[in-house]
Amino acid sequence: MKKLVILLGINFLLLSNIFSQKEPKATEVWSPESRVVTPAKNNAPPSDAIVLFDGKNLGEWTSMNNAKAEWKVADDCMTVVKGKGNIKTKKEFGDIQLHIEWRTPAVVEGKGQGRGNSGVFLQERYEVQVLDNYKNKTYSNGQAGSVYKQHIPLVNACKGPGEWQTYDIIYTAPKFNKDGIKVSSAFLTVIHNGVLVQNHVEVKGTTVNVGQPKNIAHGKASIILQDHSNPVSYRNIWVREL
Ligand code: MG
Repeated sequence: MKKLVILLGINFLLLSNIFSQKEPKATEVWSPESRVVTPAKNNAPPSDAIVLFDGKNLGEWTSMNNAKAEWKVADDCMTVVKGKGNIKTKKEFGDIQLHIEWRTPAVVEGKGQGRGNSGVFLQERYEVQVLDNYKNKTYSNGQAGSVYKQHIPLVNACKGPGEWQTYDIIYTAPKFNKDGIKVSSAFLTVIHNGVLVQNHVEVKGTTVNVGQPKNIAHGKASIILQDHSNPVSYRNIWVREL
């Protein structure tokens, strides 16, 4: 009798378990909850973004040797001043979502890599190319939207010279172990003017123009904008730490 009661009890538990697993509620997750972020209105940053440039000043930026950033600020944008060098953010970042708007000169000068060249470097090392590739041919792995010399953009989504363009970049930082060996690569997703051009591509190492990418251990680092001698402008730059 005692055994029968135990067996019935076990069967009841098994059956109720099976039935409860078939309930939609069994797979609902209620905790933790997603944090509330107020989305952007009229092209403004979302509520939890760190604003890196709002058109007014270069307070969030320095030169590469930590002196004053000397790019020109006017008309709600900043513009490369040839010879003043790259600029970098004062803050350092790991994994981020980055929004940045850029414009190559309306007056077209030069060709190939010499036409509206600049660049956005994640963690001071990994360049998403900025270039005027509107009817301007260059090597595919060096055009706008490329991870320079590493990944060709899926499509050419360039607007014309003098038009504002957007990059929305999702960046995952590489990981290194305590011996300085890379154990996980950086990854990049890039949306250019609303069009996907890099889909979670693996970054092979530092951006170099000559030779192979290197993988030297690093931690959080700045975002760099490149002075490639062309007066490229930037505006509305914000970042969300992930
Ligand atoms: Mg460049």
